[in-house]
Amino acid sequence: MIGRILGNRYEIMEKIGGGGMALVYKAKCQLLNRYVAVKILRPEFTSDEEFITKFKRESQAAASLSHPNIVNIYDVGMDDQDIYYIVMEYVKGKTLKQIIKEHGPLNPEETINIAKQISLALHHAHSNHIVHRDIKPHNILITDDGRVKVTDFGIARAVTSSTVTNTGNVIGSVHYFSPEQARGGYTDEKSDIYSLGIVMYEMSTGRLPFDGESPISIALKHIHEDVMPPTKVNEGIPKALEDIIMKSIQKDQVKRYGSTKEILEDLNQALKQPTGDFVRFEEDDDSPTQVIPVIKDNDMPKGKLGNPKPRPEKIKSNRLIVWGAVATAFVLALVFIGSIFFFKDIFISQEKEVPAVIGKSYEEAKQNLENLGLTVEEPQEQYSSEYDEGQVMFQDPKAGENVKSGYPIRLIVSKGAKLTEVPNLINKNIDEIGFILENAKLKEGTVKYEFNSLPIGIIISQSPEAGKNAPEGSGVNILVSQGPETKLILMPNLVGEKIESAKRIIETSNLIVGKIEYKTDEKIEKDTVIEQSLAAGTETEENKVVDLIVSKGPEGATQPSEENELQMKAVSLGINYNRAKQEEFILRIMKKQNGITTEIYRATHYKSKEGEKIIIEGRGKATIEVYFDDEKVAERNIDFETGSLYE
Ligand code: ATP
Ligand code: MG
Repeated sequence: MIGRILGNRYEIMEKIGGGGMALVYKAKCQLLNRYVAVKILRPEFTSDEEFITKFKRESQAAASLSHPNIVNIYDVGMDDQDIYYIVMEYVKGKTLKQIIKEHGPLNPEETINIAKQISLALHHAHSNHIVHRDIKPHNILITDDGRVKVTDFGIARAVTSSTVTNTGNVIGSVHYFSPEQARGGYTDEKSDIYSLGIVMYEMSTGRLPFDGESPISIALKHIHEDVMPPTKVNEGIPKALEDIIMKSIQKDQVKRYGSTKEILEDLNQALKQPTGDFVRFEEDDDSPTQVIPVIKDNDMPKGKLGNPKPRPEKIKSNRLIVWGAVATAFVLALVFIGSIFFFKDIFISQEKEVPAVIGKSYEEAKQNLENLGLTVEEPQEQYSSEYDEGQVMFQDPKAGENVKSGYPIRLIVSKGAKLTEVPNLINKNIDEIGFILENAKLKEGTVKYEFNSLPIGIIISQSPEAGKNAPEGSGVNILVSQGPETKLILMPNLVGEKIESAKRIIETSNLIVGKIEYKTDEKIEKDTVIEQSLAAGTETEENKVVDLIVSKGPEGATQPSEENELQMKAVSLGINYNRAKQEEFILRIMKKQNGITTEIYRATHYKSKEGEKIIIEGRGKATIEVYFDDEKVAERNIDFETGSLYE
């Protein structure tokens, strides 16, 4: 892999890690000249079509997230049909797992500080309806200056049961799985809260609450076994932190924190009041929500099973009595069975599978749900760029879950997209627009690149334009400069040409005439080029300077006409450096005369000198251009004979 270029722009440099699903490399984006991390799916997954589809869908969803505590995803791609990769922000630092391994338990403030940043990341994702599903210290990167960046959002969802058994990669994750995940059941935001609780437990004690020989045994412990309170492992943990951990890792989803917002509030409180008793635990409720009475014999209507009515004394025939008893018993049995079904319908309500209503109109969704005997709560409304006005954008419980009939279903209905003003991105660097777009509640749309005279990474144009209104969450497409196109030229042969024609060849090849030196030569006719600084046939970039050595003819011969140029007039040019962009820059002076441009000066100068006088030489009238690095900063006409400069 090392040295390979993916997607025509990401050059793989070194391997930085690997998990169950993928290998992670540091790479360089050649287009934007920055380091990125490239996560490449392990080959055993690339033949699993279902996995690939989910992987793409999930990583694209995760790419829509933009938050300082979430590792930014830049790109998702495929190369050569079988390399699937995600390009993301390169985070210089360590994983939380490494930090716990190296330092042991963290102090309570550190634990809370990291937990807060993870909660902020989760809060952002949850408000965008993305559940992480694989919160664990390996997926939490900490930069050298202590910032937390959570990675791998939602990607765990792509892992199907077949892929899990293929690689056993859940082994690392199962320590952090919620009971519902361990059971293979339905997971949601609360599953992330549980995993965060386990991560907080590990940060503050240096240990995992559940460990075992096999993933199955660990999973079973999450489902059945009680956790040893963190203070039993580390006495130094303050009460508030312990309470927060214990509330997060309740086995019953209902008893956990309802949202990351609630956790954040308690974490903040714990910083102020470490020993406070403010974390509220759900009371253990003894009366179950659905009362299913035990059906007893004497509850039976007209059952009379226990003590049948005494029968009249008139006994005609024994046989008759026997038949009568059998018939009665039969009828009573029917009544009994019938009543069981009758009661069952009343008391044991049937489980219903919740249908998928996201994307349907509210009326249709309501109808569908009510037809199944489910109740629909008063709907909430939210702006959405994804769903049209009036469409259901969220349902709880999710489709496929089983609930009792009459269960209330919560729906969020889209108010359509909220509009926001598009900010100006033109002339900004692509690296700085993430923040601008986030502030405007927009995101990066399609990014195209083009050769341009603007420096690399600078935005040339945008759509929609600045000042227009666009739906919140929608993308702004941008065209980014790749820098000037460097065209390659085959260096023409100049040796043997007369100086005038050599100059024209250089000029028409988009090259620049450099220094011309005259030498006596016994054999070669005067004014003929003897040597060129770039050999003929070599490939060279446009605007390269070519120096020439020209014959003066044999010694003592008549002065060559070009010799006149040697008796040039010197003019002193005062140049101010305040337009230089960098301390050290290259100062170039070009002379344009008779349609030919010649570089007459090139040297490194320093801005701190403020300005200097440069002596240039020439004859007659010419135009002088001054460049700092490759930027033209001045153009003047000059008369070398009088030494005067004019506009
Ligand atoms: P899993 O396959 O369950 O996600 P994992 O999280 O251990 O397991 P990867 O997500 O493949 O494995 O990551 C492997 C390692 O690569 C991480 O532990 C981390 O050291 C490194 N890494 C991942 N993403 C980045 C990134 N954006 N910048 C820098 N290093 C990273
Ligand atoms: Mg990971």
